[in-house]
Amino acid sequence: VWLSTHERALDPEDATISVYDRGFLYGDSVYETLRTAGDRVIELDAHLDRLRRSAAGIAFDLPFENEHIARALRETVAAAKNEDSRIRVIVTRGVGPIALDTRVAEAPLLVIMVEPLVVPDAEAYERGISAIVVGREGSIRPGLKTGNYLGNILALRRAHERGADDAILCNAEGAVAEGATSNFFMVVAGSIHTPSLSTGLLAGITRGVVMRLLEQELGMPTCERTVLVEELRAADELFLTSSVRGIMPVTTLDGRSVGDGSAGPVTRRALEVYSEFLQGRAK
Ligand code: PLP
Repeated sequence: VWLSTHERALDPEDATISVYDRGFLYGDSVYETLRTAGDRVIELDAHLDRLRRSAAGIAFDLPFENEHIARALRETVAAAKNEDSRIRVIVTRGVGPIALDTRVAEAPLLVIMVEPLVVPDAEAYERGISAIVVGREGSIRPGLKTGNYLGNILALRRAHERGADDAILCNAEGAVAEGATSNFFMVVAGSIHTPSLSTGLLAGITRGVVMRLLEQELGMPTCERTVLVEELRAADELFLTSSVRGIMPVTTLDGRSVGDGSAGPVTRRALEVYSEFLQGRAK
């Protein structure tokens, strides 16, 4: 763990933060989740740019330069000595008295947490996972990666209670947006669709990478548009994307098989090309 108050990598048990930290008190923070593959941090610049955009979206002037965060991140990854790492970068608006007023916040805190990367086993990518569509409730600024994830936490909880692995969030107009911690793509009659950013969703870094790979490597451009729940239920193939899980097939939706109930042909090709990308063989 890296804390900006210490300016060095610490063992997790030595890393402590104040109970007056606004990230803890109010979720007044922004964050990113990244992964490494070998000695590369995947899409580091894109993640740091999004961190900056999320901060700007909550009127929080990040006092840390990208180069500073990148250096701290590399030092922490080196200290952790994992084979592959999952990295969380958090910046809170700092400490202050118990008061909403952002003007009383002082000393923004940068926290970098590095853990061994744990991804689902190969069989899960073969079999796919199940998901249910859940109404999006209480999400503030869904396009920003802020410390307020309660809406997504509750949606995932609801999915687990109903025996599904994951939740796909739907807005009040019946348009589906994204997973609880992922974006999604659907394949209909051989063409690929994903909800447009105007639906209100996080512009996933993996979403962008996958769109680029599908177009450049497979000649399959993605159509970004409004996607209605009924369309999702009729899709031939469905998959989720995120930095940690990469591409994960969804083979059961709301209790019904998607396509023939196993990862479909387009999903398989996408999985292959994404694996090439992680190995540095596709851009
Ligand atoms: N949407 C939400 C709500 C997320 O929390 C995440 C990642 O955690 C994503 C989408 C996927 O984003 P990325 O591909 O940048 O990991």
